[in-house]
Amino acid sequence: MDKAQDSTTRSIRGIVPENHPRRDSILLRERLVEAMEKEIVVPQGLIAHGRGECFDYLIGEKTRDFAQIAIEEAAALLITAKNPVLSVNGNTAALVPTQLVELANTIPAKLEVNLFYRDTVREIAIEKALRQAGAKEVLGVGEDASETIPELFSQRRRVSKRGIFSADVVLLALEDGDRTEALTRIGKKVIAIDLNPLSRTSMKATVTIVDNVTRAIPALKEKVMELKRDPERVNRILESYDNREVLRKAMRYMAERLNQLSLDL
Ligand code: ATP
Repeated sequence: MDKAQDSTTRSIRGIVPENHPRRDSILLRERLVEAMEKEIVVPQGLIAHGRGECFDYLIGEKTRDFAQIAIEEAAALLITAKNPVLSVNGNTAALVPTQLVELANTIPAKLEVNLFYRDTVREIAIEKALRQAGAKEVLGVGEDASETIPELFSQRRRVSKRGIFSADVVLLALEDGDRTEALTRIGKKVIAIDLNPLSRTSMKATVTIVDNVTRAIPALKEKVMELKRDPERVNRILESYDNREVLRKAMRYMAERLNQLSLDL
């Protein structure tokens, strides 16, 4: 966990010993609970985080090679996009606000609030978290989310005209499969960060990064910086990517790791 995250996590820091093996995970949970109190996160977001934690356990809480391959492709797509947009929800605003703003500045890309459980109080709370993290502009708040994505019936259908509506590449995380599918159907390239390689989002996305957002977003920023210095490599990366193969690798890794752990018992 980075220092910015650690410092905002109140009294629990003193309670969890520095050498506690699950310290980072406990502090992340606390951070989400605090964000719920600030109306950034909804209770359902806590449950979604728990599902992610389970898959993170299976990959040993590290960024594996299948995620690195997807991060490289995602960086190449974001650099070459005409209008790249980073879609932000409650969990990502709570876990990685500074890192999202840094990634947006590095590409450069727009930041847009997009929520399954949309209400004005939450939109504004998320905008505030992003602005406190240094964002100059946050799309998708209030009247700005006046366009709609066709064939999508949740509040996630509401998007910003200058943002997701006109984007060619959209990065999202903790997303539901319907919206991912709706975005790809209208021709957007979707980069999903999702710890569960079996989710509908993982299956429907153009690029799936099977990793925790807390590791993937900073890693993506580093990769964007690296590839910006090497345009020829960007073209080679874009020509050779296969998302199904990345998902297969992630599933096989989980299965083989569990098998190995069972043999080591
Ligand atoms: P789908 O509709 O795509 O099948 P779902 O019903 O699981 O997915 P949600 O519960 O809305 O959709 O999304 C939560 C997803 O986000 C889960 O797949 C979970 O594994 C993943 N997730 C939760 N926390 C994190 C995290 N910190 N980093 C990356 N992925 C996460």
